[in-house]
Amino acid sequence: TPILALDGVGKSYGNVHALRGVSLKVRQGEVTCVLGDNGAGKSTLIKIISGLHEHTDGTMTLDGAECRFPSPRAAQASGIATVYQDLALAPLMSVWRNFFLGNELRKGPFRTLDIARMKQICDEELAKMGIIIPDLDRPVGGLSGGQRQCIAIARAIYFGARVIILDEPTAALGVKQSGVVLRYIVKARDAGLGVIFITHNPHHAHLVGNHFVILKLGRVVLDAHRDELTLEQ
Ligand code: ADP
Ligand code: ADP
Repeated sequence: TPILALDGVGKSYGNVHALRGVSLKVRQGEVTCVLGDNGAGKSTLIKIISGLHEHTDGTMTLDGAECRFPSPRAAQASGIATVYQDLALAPLMSVWRNFFLGNELRKGPFRTLDIARMKQICDEELAKMGIIIPDLDRPVGGLSGGQRQCIAIARAIYFGARVIILDEPTAALGVKQSGVVLRYIVKARDAGLGVIFITHNPHHAHLVGNHFVILKLGRVVLDAHRDELTLEQ
């Protein structure tokens, strides 16, 4: 069964139908790429899954049980990690504090750890992912956009997220940094998460995606797995 499934989900803002009858499944170990032009409903979809908006029609299920996320905290507590493009981490806060930020929700005992231990965990976890940050006390704002995205992905994996939503993670990055972030997307997938990769970039989607969903004016116009898209039949 999919981790997360939407069935006939709709969302209206007054009389603007931002999403209509959207059904999609997010499976463990898959990168679901969501593509679509501006206004297609991508942000609205993210907001529903991450608890910023509630859908007005249809159902959402997590592990087969109907769910609704009335707040971002509720979504996070259910294992949904959302990495926003410009707000991947709190810029003025140190790397290690960012790593632990907000995650008391999933692993309560961390609140009782001392600082030295938290820094050590952060250091080990980033090293495991191949992320090298020489000074964990540095404010995150001084790091590159690519590094911030990677730390946010490492953090989601460590804290046991089931689904990670990446909102245009490569949109503001150059070729090299995009490559680094795409590699972490693959790591998240291989760690068994369901990855939702929102992107405008079909090339990036093709590089890492297993599953492709195209939204147009609030509707799903294509939903296909990689093997369904090959030209050799
Ligand atoms: P995308 O992220 O793909 O650009 P959005 O989800 O932002 O698409 O928008 C989908 C549609 O919903 C658009 O027509 C947009 O103008 C409308 N919309 C989005 N947010 C709001 C809002 N808060 N109030 C009214 N209309 C909105
Ligand atoms: P909310 O999260 O409650 O939708 P927003 O900050 O997204 O609040 O938007 C505030 C208001 O701005 C909305 O109620 C809507 O009227 C307008 N708005 C925001 N985004 C859009 C959009 N993409 N298209 C049209 N109107 C929008």
